[in-house]
Amino acid sequence: MLWSFIKIALFLTVVAAATLGLAHLADMSGGLRLTTMGMEFTLGPLQAVIAAIVVFLLIWLVIKVVGLVVAFLRFLAGDETAITRYFDRNRERKGYQALSEGMLAAASGEGRLALSKAAKAERYLQRPELTNLLMAQAAEIAGDKKRATEGYKRLLSDNRTRFVGIRGLLRQKLDEGDTETALKLAQKAYALKPRHREMQDTLLSLQTEKGDWKGAREILQAKLRQGELPRDLHKRRDAVLALQEAKGVMEEGASVEAREAAIAAAKSSPDLIPAVVMAARAYIDKGKPRAAERILRKAWEAQPHPDLAAAYAEIKPDETAEARLKRFATLLSARPDHEETRLLKAELNIAAEDFPAARRALGDLVETHPTARVLTIMAAVERGEGADDVVVRGWLARALTAPRGPQWCCDKCQNIQADWSPVCDNCGGFDTLSWREPQKGAAPLPHGAEMLPLIVGKPSEPVVEAEIPEAEIVDGVEEGQQEAETATK
Ligand SMILES: [Zn+2]
Repeated sequence: MLWSFIKIALFLTVVAAATLGLAHLADMSGGLRLTTMGMEFTLGPLQAVIAAIVVFLLIWLVIKVVGLVVAFLRFLAGDETAITRYFDRNRERKGYQALSEGMLAAASGEGRLALSKAAKAERYLQRPELTNLLMAQAAEIAGDKKRATEGYKRLLSDNRTRFVGIRGLLRQKLDEGDTETALKLAQKAYALKPRHREMQDTLLSLQTEKGDWKGAREILQAKLRQGELPRDLHKRRDAVLALQEAKGVMEEGASVEAREAAIAAAKSSPDLIPAVVMAARAYIDKGKPRAAERILRKAWEAQPHPDLAAAYAEIKPDETAEARLKRFATLLSARPDHEETRLLKAELNIAAEDFPAARRALGDLVETHPTARVLTIMAAVERGEGADDVVVRGWLARALTAPRGPQWCCDKCQNIQADWSPVCDNCGGFDTLSWREPQKGAAPLPHGAEMLPLIVGKPSEPVVEAEIPEAEIVDGVEEGQQEAETATK
C-alpha cells in the first residue's frame, strides 16, 4: 500500500521535473550549463534530453535493486513466502497420508507397518496428540509392550489425550494382572470422566475384587443417578456391597456400627438370604430374639431357605424338639405350600419323633420332586415307623443318585458354591450367585441335606456322602474358564 503510493508520487515528481526541464530548455538558446566538481559542461538541447533519460533510468534501476534486496532479507529472516508455503503444504499432505495409512494398518492388525507409518507421520506433522496415540496402538498390536507404554505415557502430558493414555495403561496393567496399579489408574480415569461407562464397570469390578466395598457403592450410586442401573437392581447390589462392608468391619471388631450396617442391608433387601441371616445373628448376640425372629420370618415370606431355618434354630439352641416344633410354627405358617417349608416341617417332626406327621408334611414330594433331601427324610420316616432295614436302605440308595435340589449357582459360569459370596469363586462375576437348581450336568454339592443333622442330631452312620464324578467338575471348570476368557476379550 505504502509502496505503491511512493511509486505514484515518484512517477508524478519525475513527470513534473521533465516538464519543467523541457520548458527550461525551450527558454534557453545557448544550451544547458552544468558545473560539477570544478568542471563545467555545456550541453545542447538534445544532449540535455538524453542526460535526463539516463538519470531517470538510473533511478529506476536503483529502486528495483533495493526492492529485490529487501525481499531477499525478509526471506532469510524466515518470513512466510510462497516457497515456504509450498513446502509446508507438501509436508502436511505427506504427514496426513502417513497417518491415515498407519491407522488403516493398525486397524488391520499390521503392527510393524503401523509403527513405521506413525513415525513418518510424526516427522512430517509435528502433532504429538495425533501421532502418539497411533504409535502406542501400533506398538501394542506389534506386541512391543515397552514402546506402547512409552506412547501412552506421552499421552498423559496433554490434557486432551490424558484419558486415552490412562485407559491404555490401565488395559496393559489388567493384561499383566497388576490389579493394584490398575485400580489406581481406574480411579484417576474415573475422576477425569465419571460418566464413562466402561471405566465405571472396570473400576467397580476392580473394587469388588479388592474388597473396596465403600468405593464400589459410590460407583453404584453414580450409575443409578445417571440412569444406567434399574432401581431394584441397584438396591439389591447395594445391599450385597453393604453386607460385605459390614462383614469387613465386623471382622475388625467394631461391632455396634457393623451390626447396624448389616441390619440396614437386610432391611433394604429382604430377599437377600445371607444379609438377613447375618442381621439375625447380630440380633441374637444383642439379646433381641424377637427382632431376629421377625426379620427371619419376613425373609421366609420372600424366599424360604435352609440358612434362614438354621438361624431361626440358633435363637434357642437348647430347647427340646417339641418346643422347637411349636416355636417354628410361626415361621412355617409364612409359606406353608413351599417345598422348603414342607421339608423343614418334616425334619422338625422327625426330630420330635412324630413320623406320621413328617410323612404328611412331605406329601407327594417323593413323586413330584424326589431330591436327595426328600429321599433321605423318607428313609428317616420309614426307620422311625419301624420299617424293615431293606426298605430304609432302598430309600438311601435312591438318595445317593438323586438330584441335590437348589444350590448357590453362578448364573454366568454355572459354578456351585457351598456358601453365598458376592463374587463368584470361579469366574469372578459380581453378584452372579443365585439360589436355584443347578443346570443339567453340573456337579452337585451337598447343601440342603445339612439341615437334617442340624435338627435331628448327627446320624449314627454316614448317609449322604455322594462322590462327585471328577469328569463333571473338570467340565464345569473348563466351561467357566472359557466364559471368563470371552468376558475379558
Ligand atoms: Zn461364576
